[in-house]
Amino acid sequence: MSRLIAVSNRVADPSTGKTAGGLAIGLLAALRKQGGVWFGWGGKTCRGEPTDPTVTRRGKVSYATVDIDETEFEDYYNGYSNGCLWPLCHYMLNFFHYERRFGQAYQRVNALFARKLRPMLQADDVIWAHDYHLIPLAGELRKAGVENPIGFFLHVPFPNIDVLRTLPGHRRILEMLTRYDVIGFQTSSDVRSFIEGLARVGFLEARLGYDRFRACGREFTAAAFPIGIDVPGVMQMADRSVTSATVKRVEDGLVGRELVIGVDRLDYSKGLPERFRAFGELLTSYPDTRGRLVFMQIAPPTRSGVRAYQDIREELEQLAGNINGRFAEPDWAPIRYLNRGFSRSMLMGMFRVARIGLVTPLRDGMNLVAKEFIAAQDPDDPGALILSSLAGAAEELDAAVIVNPYDTEGVAEAIQRAANMPLGERQERYRTMMAQLQINDIGAWTDRFLGALEAVRAQSSSGTPTITA
Ligand code: ADP
Repeated sequence: MSRLIAVSNRVADPSTGKTAGGLAIGLLAALRKQGGVWFGWGGKTCRGEPTDPTVTRRGKVSYATVDIDETEFEDYYNGYSNGCLWPLCHYMLNFFHYERRFGQAYQRVNALFARKLRPMLQADDVIWAHDYHLIPLAGELRKAGVENPIGFFLHVPFPNIDVLRTLPGHRRILEMLTRYDVIGFQTSSDVRSFIEGLARVGFLEARLGYDRFRACGREFTAAAFPIGIDVPGVMQMADRSVTSATVKRVEDGLVGRELVIGVDRLDYSKGLPERFRAFGELLTSYPDTRGRLVFMQIAPPTRSGVRAYQDIREELEQLAGNINGRFAEPDWAPIRYLNRGFSRSMLMGMFRVARIGLVTPLRDGMNLVAKEFIAAQDPDDPGALILSSLAGAAEELDAAVIVNPYDTEGVAEAIQRAANMPLGERQERYRTMMAQLQINDIGAWTDRFLGALEAVRAQSSSGTPTITA
């Protein structure tokens, strides 16, 4: 079996195997099975050219991390990745801020990654790069003579060409993606946007099969690989932590009221001000919900180096204050807004005690919280999930209560409906969604993607003929 070389902006902590997201679970399982290297930025900046990667070996897995020059990092990470690509991919152009030097640093950091990774590669390795920070990586590796199969998975949405066109140099983004052998997206709609983008700029040369294409002189697979979660892992965490002191305190504090929960990074794409307003609308339009529901929003700050992230924090504090000021009673406050993180296991326990999960991003590649909320429920008395139609997860979880997050009255109505949903309906929806989560769990996701990458190797060694459309 070939070694797997996983590349992502951040690397899991070798001592705990943890990163901020759920991705680590799937990647680590695949790395442990196949053996390999997890390569990326180690979280430290330096001045000038970084030294060679620091390598820590744990069993069959090596963690290799590089530093990045501090100015270069600012432009690559805050400037281009999170100031240009993130808002662009989430269709939020009012947050888009472009400067030429950001794009140049982005390219140079990808070249740095390729330069530092190249000496670690062996002939039969397969390489799997993750997310929007690393679009040019395959091109840089190809320039350095690397011919191994290289896959790319985009965790965020891929924007329609009419939005992508906003980015100066968007043709280069499309061209750089064609340097990969397998390009994976969260949903079929992202795949369509990518292929349409290639066609519109004149790069698409042929469709060679259902998910095989040729563009810019290269053949590749482009397909949807919706990311899943570790279903039994979440169920166990929820089971265990529901009896922990922290979760018990939350439950006791409700004194019989029902919990509506939201858990997100503090990001403008998550639709938090809209969600707060919808909760205010609920209390206005459905007075019987006053004193009956408590909305707890957990939102730890992220990317505090980007201005828009400071602004949203202030906006939310004001909104929570206004709504609480308007509706609170001596023994009840409608919103509990917690600007901090919790351990995953605590979160799963809180999902378990919640009656309603509110997942209303304005746009999201997938949204793992929606999936975790379902998996954490008590099968006999499950809570209801309210899910944005603009989250990738809605493609699979259509048994949730689907809302348009911009429709304040519609979201308020959905909360009211979920709060009164009969047990039988909750169970039915839960069973449908759990079946989907189990079929497409995190293991299935890595297997499918790596299977597609192995198929490319088999195809290229057998010299399969291509058909020109
Ligand atoms: P994104 O990747 O945009 O942050 P997702 O919902 O897809 O959004 O993934 C977020 C992941 O981070 C989930 O696995 C979730 O459990 C975790 N997470 C979100 N908020 C917190 C928090 N406050 N504390 C700990 N983990 C969190």
